[in-house]
Amino acid sequence: MKPIDSKKEIRKVDQGVLRSIPGVDECLQALFSLPDLENVPIVVVKNCVRDILAEMRERVLGGEEIPPDSLQVSSLQPIICERIHKEQQPKFRRVINCTGVIIHTNLGRSILPKSAMDKLYEAGSRYSNLEFDLETGKRGSRYSHVEKLLCQLTGAEAALVVNNNAAAVLIVLETLAKNREVIVSRGQLVEIGGSFRIPDVMSRSGATLVEVGATNRTHPGDYENAMTEDTALLLKVHCSNFRIIGFTHEVDLPSLVEIGRLKGIPVMEDLGSGCFVDLSQFGLEKEPTVQEVVVSGVDVVTFSGDKLLGGPQAGIILGKKVIIDRIKKNPVNRAMRIDKFTLSGLESILRLYLDEKTALQQIPTLEMIATPFEVVKRRARRLAKRVRKELSALCRISTCETVSRVGGGAMPEQNLPSMAVVLEPVGMTVNHLEQTLRQLELPVIGRVEEDRLLLDMRTVADDEVILVAGCLIQALTGSTG
Ligand SMILES: *Cc1c(COP(=O)(O)O)cnc(C)c1O
Repeated sequence: MKPIDSKKEIRKVDQGVLRSIPGVDECLQALFSLPDLENVPIVVVKNCVRDILAEMRERVLGGEEIPPDSLQVSSLQPIICERIHKEQQPKFRRVINCTGVIIHTNLGRSILPKSAMDKLYEAGSRYSNLEFDLETGKRGSRYSHVEKLLCQLTGAEAALVVNNNAAAVLIVLETLAKNREVIVSRGQLVEIGGSFRIPDVMSRSGATLVEVGATNRTHPGDYENAMTEDTALLLKVHCSNFRIIGFTHEVDLPSLVEIGRLKGIPVMEDLGSGCFVDLSQFGLEKEPTVQEVVVSGVDVVTFSGDKLLGGPQAGIILGKKVIIDRIKKNPVNRAMRIDKFTLSGLESILRLYLDEKTALQQIPTLEMIATPFEVVKRRARRLAKRVRKELSALCRISTCETVSRVGGGAMPEQNLPSMAVVLEPVGMTVNHLEQTLRQLELPVIGRVEEDRLLLDMRTVADDEVILVAGCLIQALTGSTG
């Protein structure tokens, strides 16, 4: 009758069940004899035991009815072991990209070829001439290892590499335009994923943004009229992740360079993705290559190392020697400098570009773009065939044509024809299958479309097909066979 009494009742029951939860020491005692845990640091075991016991206590206190049997040490043991196993796995690890997005920022953008990784391994595990000039025996510059290559490949006078393209844009603006004005077309004030917005980067650099033109149209006169004594730079931003269509006009780079030259004001292009190879040969829309941008006479151009270039994360700055020299001397440069791993990976990738055919074959990002539809189709069929029999009762498995994306904010509207393995599970929802695959030890990341799970095979390497097959069997049958 009285609510206060019934509350006491519940509390009494709780206490009984709570008391039956074993103690940490009791659990540890039982776990010590397990050979599986022999090499697991004791602190990991202890923390997992504590966490599991605390969770049990929470559940009891939360009013959940837990059978006393499942609170015994023997019942808790497998749960604790599973948790320990999970904790032992590195948090940062490999996944299989079945999204069809080639430059997927969340999945690590570009991957490097084995030849580059071998060099990287050496750079990490041995001493190197990172900043040591082997000719003179004196201190050298870490940038010298890639500067000449970059100039050779692009025709630029000078080059510098920093941590990423965001840093590249920031340091160029800070060096050339701090406390002065930078003119940008209104249609190019873009946001590139995360938090990189041109107006914000501009204000951080200490430069003042002067917007010209209308969202859809900017003309040479707009730039000319906006130039003052305070103008330090004309900036063009490559609109890599969106497109304004319809009644539009942009001032092209050669015209912008001409406007700048007449007034003696430098011109910069933030190219974003920056590619050395004309990808229109693979059915993609023509985008200016880095070489073409350099030829236009631009004073400075920046782009990412891990987008279409297919290298490690880096921001590459190319341009006129007088300008690059000023940027090199900026103390901020030290705070943005690349490490030996980046340097090693970048040099390996750049060397591959000395022969375009080699670059297309060996740089994974380019190779995935260049892979013919027929090859992707065969890969999809191979995977479907591998698992169809074993999973026939659990999942409908077929293949379908789909489209891959280049990604990385590059070529947003452009599709590459591709082939996907289509999964329609019987005993579970498609979202549950997606989640299970994503949470495997080797996660498989696909995409759900119209209540089906699609595994786009353009971004899956040939030697990963067998791994994906194993993952599918594991996710659908629960066996690791
Ligand atoms: C991607 C991109 C950036 C940022 O490059 P990060 O290497 O990711 O720092 C800047 N500008 C443009 C136009 C981009 O496409």
